[in-house]
Amino acid sequence: MKITDIQTLVLVAPLKKPMGGVSNSGPIRSRKTALIRVITDEGLVGIGESFGIPQLVPPIVQQIFRPLLLGQNPLETELLWDRMYRGLGYHGQKGLLIEVLSGIDIALWDLRGKAFGQPIYKILGETHRTILPAYAAGMYFSPVEDLRAEARSYVEQGFSSVKLKIGVGNGVPDEVAVQTVREAVGPGVRVMADVNCGYDYEKALEAGRKLEAYDLYWLEEPVPPEYLEDYRQLRQELNMKIAGGEAEYTRWGFKAMFEKEAVDVAQPDLMRCGGLTEGVRIAQMAAEYGVPISTHAWLSIVGMVASLHYGAVCPLFESFEFEMTENPLRDEITVEKLHPENGTIKVFEGPGLGLQLIEEQVSRYLVMKG
Ligand SMILES: [Mg+2]
Repeated sequence: MKITDIQTLVLVAPLKKPMGGVSNSGPIRSRKTALIRVITDEGLVGIGESFGIPQLVPPIVQQIFRPLLLGQNPLETELLWDRMYRGLGYHGQKGLLIEVLSGIDIALWDLRGKAFGQPIYKILGETHRTILPAYAAGMYFSPVEDLRAEARSYVEQGFSSVKLKIGVGNGVPDEVAVQTVREAVGPGVRVMADVNCGYDYEKALEAGRKLEAYDLYWLEEPVPPEYLEDYRQLRQELNMKIAGGEAEYTRWGFKAMFEKEAVDVAQPDLMRCGGLTEGVRIAQMAAEYGVPISTHAWLSIVGMVASLHYGAVCPLFESFEFEMTENPLRDEITVEKLHPENGTIKVFEGPGLGLQLIEEQVSRYLVMKG
């Protein structure tokens, strides 16, 4: 089998209701992503997803990765990962180029599963679980009454772990938001708070000390990812877990985090960190350091389902992030749907990712093809 083409589909799905209107970055009015298709001479097609700035993915695929991959055997997944990574020279240790590589790697795993007639998780590593604990992520800087209703709705849907956004909003104060959610869900439910790097060390320490009163399970990305020493110190100072890693790249980036003892929970995003091939290396290394994985996935169902297969093979696994807010790219573009049940989610069993795109729905949101 040989790779004959690689295509990128840039999708933009407008939202009915803008999200996170009082956050510093302004409201999110649409969900966007770049899906990548790897096409072969035997008719098999693999689908992947990149975190990269969507409109910039097609030229990177065409000018950088396509020449490296055309004519290659798509089943040589690890060799192709190295070929892509080394092909970047000094340009691609972190950032957008690795995000595009990640999407291609996921597509190659989808192809590999389809070629062997197996779901990805069965050929990716040892199966540690096929039902993953999941948490509900949402609550983006809403007014207090909306936060309360949203938190309760997640518990009513069976989740025993919920996550809200703090740190980069200018509406409800962070402490009030966490208190509201804690009171809404009661004492038996885990509450996590995601700062998206909105604090500096002093602010994180001050806020974290106040939030200890609400039995916060983890504080996520309290400071920017470059400041590993701050992460380490916050772990020592605060009576809660410190989570991070969604902005980190490759095994080398995660190795630095683990050696620094920067996090209690590592959150690789497969669409960014180097795809499934690199994700597995990161999970194995995380287990050596005793750090559990909690997957980060925010884009379409393609990346979320890749994360499910990944979660099945992680030796130490904490939870699957189930992003609950409005997202047509999660709910509308594939035949198969995600069905969380009692705070868990089952791994998909079809060949590859186990997903079939609904072409009419993909066309509906398609804004660029390259
Ligand atoms: Mg986050």
